Amino acid sequence: MVTKVRIASIRGYDETSGKRLEDFGKVGHCAAQMEWALNSEEFASRVLAYEASAARPRFLRPGGLTNAEVLHVLRAGAATRRAGRDRVIDLHLVREDERGEGTIGFVRGGYIHTYRDYFDRHGPPWMAGHLAHEFAHLAGFSHAREEKPGRKHTVPYAVGEIVYEVCLERFGRHWPRHLEEERDFDVRETEARQRRKKQSGVLKTIFGLFS
Ligand SMILES: [Zn+2]
Repeated sequence: MVTKVRIASIRGYDETSGKRLEDFGKVGHCAAQMEWALNSEEFASRVLAYEASAARPRFLRPGGLTNAEVLHVLRAGAATRRAGRDRVIDLHLVREDERGEGTIGFVRGGYIHTYRDYFDRHGPPWMAGHLAHEFAHLAGFSHAREEKPGRKHTVPYAVGEIVYEVCLERFGRHWPRHLEEERDFDVRETEARQRRKKQSGVLKTIFGLFS
């Protein structure tokens, strides 16, 4: 079984057409990284081994579920649908045209809202982690509203962090990915080149390099 991620509806993002995730532009690559992460061995082993503390070798507020059950709910629970032998996560995405003032986003009525500052300023691993966090809410997991010490060990926060970490390790921090694969020049130059390319709009022509 594979867990697939689909963009079922989208509003407020620049690139909003296409059937494959990559056709949606940057946000599609973010969703594709989330999909890769959910199916990865790295993700599974970190979820299965998760310990809020030595005395609490599981997530906080897991709704009575073991780590293995949490993994199953994220990959094939009620927030997914069946598609042959696979499971599908339908994402309904909204980019809020407000800055967010330090807030990343929120879920409302099955829609994942993301403030534009966060989306515009972060590469796919960060956004993949955010999508995973919000999807964990849709899958039934919650956390305290206020910032408490234990909050980072709840399923939405911990899983968002794991997805971010495995994506960063697998795909690197740069967007688009192929820039980091060019060798023989240092990271600062890569970033400068990336900024220049972004400014000139060349970025939009180099999709399809994500695998
Ligand atoms: Zn949350």
